[in-house]
Amino acid sequence: MAKQISCQDAGMDCAFMVRSESEDELVAMVKDHAEHQHHVEMSDDDVRELMKAA
Ligand SMILES: [Zn+2]
Repeated sequence: MAKQISCQDAGMDCAFMVRSESEDELVAMVKDHAEHQHHVEMSDDDVRELMKAA
């Protein structure tokens, strides 16, 4: 099942949303986005907590 994460779910005023079959890919994409767009460093666990089934 695919998973998705959006910045809005994380309480951010940002339209970024990613969806993938691969949790590892999702984690990598979200960490990259958070770091470059929000200057926030997230751990893999932080990202996984935000994932929801899509
Ligand atoms: Zn964002």
